[in-house]
Amino acid sequence: MYSEPLFRPPSEARSLIIQVTEGCSHNKCRFCYMYKGKQFRLRSEEEIKAHIEWLKSYYRDPERIFLADGNVMCLKTEKLIELLEYIKSQFPSAKRISSYSGPLDLIRKTDEELKLIRETGLELLYVGVESGSDNVLSMMQKGANQQQMIEAGRKALKAGFKLSCMIISGLGGTEYMEEHAVESAKVISAINPTYFSLLRLVVEEKSELSMDIRQGKFHLLTPLQVIDENIMMLENMDLKDCIFRANHVSNYVNQAGTLNRDRDMLVERLKKFRKSGFVPGGSDML
Ligand code: SF4
Repeated sequence: MYSEPLFRPPSEARSLIIQVTEGCSHNKCRFCYMYKGKQFRLRSEEEIKAHIEWLKSYYRDPERIFLADGNVMCLKTEKLIELLEYIKSQFPSAKRISSYSGPLDLIRKTDEELKLIRETGLELLYVGVESGSDNVLSMMQKGANQQQMIEAGRKALKAGFKLSCMIISGLGGTEYMEEHAVESAKVISAINPTYFSLLRLVVEEKSELSMDIRQGKFHLLTPLQVIDENIMMLENMDLKDCIFRANHVSNYVNQAGTLNRDRDMLVERLKKFRKSGFVPGGSDML
């Protein structure tokens, strides 16, 4: 009853996953192979209800629910509201409902629509900003630019959502390393999300980016360059009470704190690793 592969953010590991859409409506990012084998589609109301019936036989009282796949916010607002009401009626124990959201889907909805969706129960949105640099976003065919990322993030927060933004360390390659660090810090600072996660670029062999690497069009950062880039990014951050995590399996150095409060400590820690010349773990290719 799940259309695989199925993805969710690491922090949703204990959540019940309800698959509302299949795939990603954008599906063009050069670094991403998540949904390449899936044709994007919205599941019908009947399918979703049958899926929920099936889930109820396994999960009785979930506390957290994650709506998959790619971008549930592309649903028409009235459909999404109906769906949220139905999910709450079927799983009254749920204390939090979350989903991924594409930046353009957030921009397309009015402030009132977003507020209504938030009030109906969708609480936390994960937005893959990936980079704040227009050059990197365009090179990776992300389909949204710096200004749109900022607008989308601010709109979500204004409507009352909790917002988790992700940046991929190393996504600019050697060519845009500095720009990626500085501009990503600029965008995340302009949004000031509830959570900011920093992952590291790990290249899936079948992705278009892997082809770019083989053709010499994209050059991966060395582990020490990744640390340098992380330092630069953190040094340029200007955030208030933002929960920061770089504790994904891809990260060379696990980091956690609140920004900007813990920024100096986090930067000092990275500098120590940098000085030792030893960067633990990690592989650049899947
Ligand atoms: S990174 Fe996100 S928006 Fe881009 S193709 Fe993958 S799932 Fe879709």
